[in-house]
Parts: sequence; C-alpha cells; structure tokens
Amino acid sequence: MATKGVFRVECPQCGESFDADFWTVVRGDRDHDVKELILIGEFDILSCPKCSAMFRHEEPFLYIDPPKDMLAFVMPESYQEKKDEWIARMKADYEPVRATLAGGQGITGEPLYLFGLGPLTELLESDRDREEETEVMEFMAREDGLHLLPVKPASARELDIFFSMPMPAGLSGRAAALKAAKDLRAKNDALPRLKKLVDTLGALKGESVPFIKNQ
Ligand SMILES: [Zn+2]
Repeated sequence: MATKGVFRVECPQCGESFDADFWTVVRGDRDHDVKELILIGEFDILSCPKCSAMFRHEEPFLYIDPPKDMLAFVMPESYQEKKDEWIARMKADYEPVRATLAGGQGITGEPLYLFGLGPLTELLESDRDREEETEVMEFMAREDGLHLLPVKPASARELDIFFSMPMPAGLSGRAAALKAAKDLRAKNDALPRLKKLVDTLGALKGESVPFIKNQ
C-alpha cells in the first residue's frame, strides 16, 4: 500500500516553494514512529529548505488500524468549514473500495471522518490509556489463573471498558464474567475500567456478553 505522496508547499516565512513528502496512509498498528509523531504533535510539521522555518501543513490522509477496528479519514482542519461537503465526497470515494480497504483488513465498523489532528490525537491517547489499563488488568487476571477474552474495540471505546475481559477457564457466560471482574476488583479498586466492567456486566440481561469479539 502506498504510504507517501509528494505535494508542493510554500513557506509562509520566505515564500520559497518546495516539494514535501506527506503520509497519505498511516497504518497505526505498524507505523509506530509515525503514530508517535501524531501523538507528540509533530506529524505535519515541515522545515523550509531555504530559511529553516518550521511550519505546519496539513494534507488529507487515511489512518488505519485493523486490530483496533479503526479506519479514519483525517482531513485538514480548514476543511471543517465545508464539513458536510467533504464528508459526502469522502463517503462517495470510499464506497467503491470499502470491501478491499476495510473488509480486506477485517475492519467492521463505520469509518470516522475527522478534521484536523486534534480529534485523532484524542482518540489515540484514549486508546493508549485503555491499553495500559488493560495490561494491568490482564496481569492480575493471569495471576489468578483467569483466561482473557478479546472485547470488540468499538465496544471497548463506546462502553469505556478494557480491550479484553477476564473469564474463568472453561466458562463464557455473563454471570461467570461478572464474578471474575468482581473478584479482581476486590483486589484492586484503583482501575476505573474494572468498575465500569462490573457495572456494564451487571446491567446486562441474560447470559450472553454481546461485546466479546468473535462470538
Ligand atoms: Zn522559508
């Protein structure tokens, strides 16, 4: 998959015009350095070859992370003025390639249409926070001999729970999951998402847990 494109840009400081490389597709699960640039706010910073001025220049790009079930069209912030028009255009461009682009990567959710890096950074930061808390929970669960089942990433974001959930070996129902979560919580009440998981499981009816992946 092509990941870079060349665009002509003009330095706002000295007016020099030059060719610059831009990422057109970023794979969140593979391009770790690029993802880091997004997180630290340096993704779209250019340096003028003539006067060395640093400036920001946005071009549209696609952000894909299949394991996280995420596909986002990230457009320059200035496009927000004509937001509806741009979203309609992106949707029209996307429909014919949906099967290849999303389906081929195992992405099931609807694409996101974001304006500027702000909303993407926010999402990535929240995912990273969730990942870190998930790791702590998983460590505790393994120590207790519990198994871990993956949670649908979109559900994890929507319900603000972990990317996985503890489950006693050999079991799969809601009551068993609720007990496992409560037992972990009794040992560590410092994980906000463990409380969320207990509350979420407690509020469900029946034995099935709809947010477990591949079930
Ligand atoms: Zn310059």
